[in-house]
This record gives sequence, structure tokens and C-alpha cells, in this order.
Amino acid sequence: DLSNAIVAQDEMGRPFIIVRDQGKKQRQHGLEATKAHILAARAVASIVKTSLGPRGLDKILVGPDGDITITNDGATILAQMDLDNEIAKLLVQLAQSQDDEIGDGTTGVVVLALALLDQAHELLDKGIHPLKIANGFDAACKIAVAQLDADADDILISEEARDSNLLKAARTSLGLKIVSKAHDHFAHMAVDAVLAVADLERKDVDFELIKMETKVGGSIEDLALIRGVLLDKEFSHPQMPKKATDCKIAILTCPFEPPKPKTKHKLDISSVEEFKVLQEYEQTKFREMISLVKDSGANVVACQWGFDDEANHLLLSSGLNAIRWIGGSELELLAIATNGHIVPRFEDLTPEKLGTAGVIRELEFGTTRDRMLVVEDCSNTRAVTCFIRGSNEMIVAEGVRALHDSICVVRNLVRDSRVVYGGGAAELLASLAVSAAADKQKGIDQYAFRAFSSALDQVPMVLAENSGLDPIETLSQLKLKQALEKCAHLGVDCLGKGTNDMKELFVIDPLIGKKQQLLLATQLTRMILKINDVIISGKDEY
Ligand code: ADP
Repeated sequence: DLSNAIVAQDEMGRPFIIVRDQGKKQRQHGLEATKAHILAARAVASIVKTSLGPRGLDKILVGPDGDITITNDGATILAQMDLDNEIAKLLVQLAQSQDDEIGDGTTGVVVLALALLDQAHELLDKGIHPLKIANGFDAACKIAVAQLDADADDILISEEARDSNLLKAARTSLGLKIVSKAHDHFAHMAVDAVLAVADLERKDVDFELIKMETKVGGSIEDLALIRGVLLDKEFSHPQMPKKATDCKIAILTCPFEPPKPKTKHKLDISSVEEFKVLQEYEQTKFREMISLVKDSGANVVACQWGFDDEANHLLLSSGLNAIRWIGGSELELLAIATNGHIVPRFEDLTPEKLGTAGVIRELEFGTTRDRMLVVEDCSNTRAVTCFIRGSNEMIVAEGVRALHDSICVVRNLVRDSRVVYGGGAAELLASLAVSAAADKQKGIDQYAFRAFSSALDQVPMVLAENSGLDPIETLSQLKLKQALEKCAHLGVDCLGKGTNDMKELFVIDPLIGKKQQLLLATQLTRMILKINDVIISGKDEY
């Protein structure tokens, strides 16, 4: 085929033929492709396997710029890996969707997907058609989910039950993610933050109102929940009072800048007089703006843009506290929290559009010159900011992740108070149900059901292994116990507490999170099983 061949000449005039590179176009097909995908996914997933559970290990991830992250959070680990395999990328998305929907259980979902893929691989080796496997897994997943639904416990969620249930759940979800000294602080913060923005009656949590702010420095225990908004800003002039009270806030998206004088010709300033005229023009304009602000009754100006020294000085001398360069999302949050309107033009300022807050004060940090502004006693008191400190970037980042996870667990419980038990108890329960159903299946589905059940068993096994226990022995003991005691909350005693009763240890998982894990992992397996052709076009294609 010479259609993509070109005749060219070298510098000596000798002709030669260039054939466009065909080697770049890769193609895998059929069962081989499916198996290759499973292997690719396994290579990636096995990396996060050792991070599962309270005794899971951390990973150091080195970014392209040499920046490092230390974490044991599945979604974070996967997101930071530089993967060029398409199937591996699906796993990253898997962890991501669990994170988006539920916010917790990202490692677990990948471990489960890995186990399902391994089982699928074995079934393929037995010669079972990929679609048969996929359909069998789907049916098995339905049984597993139904079993969880049936055995879930409803725990009491209320302000009064705060300490008994929510706090315990938050504590469990923190696991050993952060230094144990700070454990209690984090758990309290997670519960307080969620309760502050929750409507228990309607089982609704307005997640948008919880904001996280970080500042390197201090210790991880210095974290604080600010009932209001924290802005990484300071008042625009060092002589402005460090604290403003009874604040009426003008929230502006227009700059403190005089409009350019309207002349048809370009502005030439060739004499001192002309300069003075211009300066006076600017001064008048500034005064006009400031009087518009003052007339509205505002005593604080929050501006999305900057202003120069001249304007800053005028603001100071007019007794206005000002903040400049507030980012768009912070400005919005400020407006929501203070019940103010974002005003695009000075002329539009009216008393009703001002935000109100009891106090705006500057926070100063130790010997550094860093400052932040706290806006408290806002009229819409529900917005809260979790302020996380730590001695270095890595600790702060891991603190944020840990807090995020436990906030998500508490939020999920407020939304749906049904729980299943952790330490692999829920998986074991589902596994037994699926395996019992397998006996009633005729034909090929029986294999798929058994395989699905074995995949579920992997979760307690991995937990056991990561905790230094013998996985097979632990699993068989648990199964025996489960069969004898008919108890739905027997799991792996990862922390060596001396009992397998996860209810007693309050190791719980929100039902919605566990169900989501099962559904997502099954979906992913199905997807991979259904792909039988991958065509990757090389860069030289046209
Ligand atoms: P994920 O990212 O999936 O949340 P984690 O590393 O947080 O992963 O591990 C969660 C798993 O560890 C869950 O299966 C949970 O039930 C289990 N687990 C957490 N704490 C304990 C505990 N104290 N004892 C036994 N299992 C626990």
C-alpha cells in the first residue's frame, strides 16, 4: 500500500521513500483485550489495596514538580498517578465518582472493583462469555444490595444524640488518618460543621455552606470552626481598626477607580496644571463613590477589585474599613453569609443591599505577618468555615482530607440514618446472601454468583491482611461465627480491640455509601467486560 508513501530527496539529490508510520496505531481485540484490561486495572488497583482500613499504609506521591503528598486516601492516590492506560483511568474515575457522591469509601470501592475483576478473569479463563459474567454480577449485586437494605440499622440522629452517634461515627471515620492527639478536635469539628448547616427535619445538609481554609503554621490541634466566613485577606490599610463591629457591608464588584475622562483624543498631560486638573477629577470621582457608599449606611467595603493608595487613604479618612481583591467565590460566600447583595455599580447601593455581620476582625498568626479576616455573627448564621492548621503543607493537606471524609460521613448520616457495619461485616453479610442465592441458580449464573461472593470476601481479607492478621484464617473464623451467631455485625478487629462486634466498636458505614460502593464497582466491572476492542490512534494518523 503506497497511498501513504511519499517520495522525497535527500540533500545530495538521492530519492528515498517515506512511508508514514503505521506502527503507532494499536489495536487489541476480543478476549485477549478484555484480559489485558483486567491486568492493567489490577496493576493500578493493587497499589491502593494496602491503604485500606485503619491500619492501612500511607503512600508518598511525588508530583511532576517534586512536590510530595502523603496520604492513604484512595481517590487522592489514584488522582495523582500519571496513568496513560485508558482502563486504569476508568479506575481513577471510579474512585472519583464515589468521592463525589458519598465522599468516603474511595479505597474500598477500588478494592472491591479489583476483586470483581480478578474473579471475572478466572471466569473468562473457564471460557464463560464476558456478557454472561457481567449479567451474573449485576444480578448478584442486586441481591447483595437487598441484603444490606434488609439488615441495615437505623440510628438516631438528633442534636441530643450528637455525642452518642454522630460523634462516634465521625471518630471512626477518621480512623488513624491523623495524629491521635487531634482526633477529638477533628471529630467535634466535623459534627459541629455539619449540624451548623443541617436541617435535621428535612434531612438536608447544605454542603456549599461549609468551607475549608488552611494556613500552614501552628499545630494540627489548632484547628478552629469559625461560625461565619474566613477571608484570606486583611483590611486594606494598616491604620484601619483591627476590628469592626455592627458591620454593614457594601459588597462591590466595581473597582474604586474613576472612569476614564471621556475625550475623543488621547490624554496628553504636558503641564503641571493639566496634571492637577486630572488629579482633581480623580479626587472628585473618589469622593462621589465614597459618599455613595456612606449614604447607603455602609461602614465596611468589600471589593472584588483593588484600589490605589489614593482611594485607600480616602476610605481610611472617611472611617470606612475596606477589604480588596476578594475572589469571586469568597465574595459570593460573604454575600450569602451576610445576606447581602453583590452590587455591580456604586449607584445601585441601597441600605437593603448591604450585608450585615456582628464582627469583622483580623486574625494574626504568631510572628508571621500573615493575617486573615473573620466575619462572625452573620445574619445568615449557617455558613461555617473549618480552619485547619498544621506545621507543613503535607500535614495540612492530610488534615483537610481526613476532615472532609468525616464531614461526609456525618452528612450522609443526616441524609439517611441507616447504617451497616464496617470492618468487612457488611461485605461478609452480602457475600453470604449471594452465596446462598448461588445454590438456587441454574446454569452459568451460579458461577458468576459464587465469584461475586468471593469478591466480597476479599474486603475483610484485605482488611485483615493490612492489620497484620492471617486473611484466610480471619475470614473462615468470621464466617463460622456469623453462621453460628446469625449476627450481621461481625467484622475484622483491625485495631485489636478484642471483639469482632462492630456494633459494639461503633465501626459503621452509612448504608448509602456501602450500596454505592457495590453498585459502582459492579458497573465498572461490567463496563470493562463489555469492551472488546480498543483502537488507539497514533499521533501520526490523519
Ligand atoms: P476508604 O477510603 O474506603 O474509606 P479507609 O482506609 O478509610 O478507606 O478504610 C475503610 C475501611 O476500614 C472500611 O471497610 C471500614 O469499615 C474499616 N474500618 C475502619 N475503622 C475500623 C475499625 N476500627 N475496625 C475495623 N475496621 C475498620
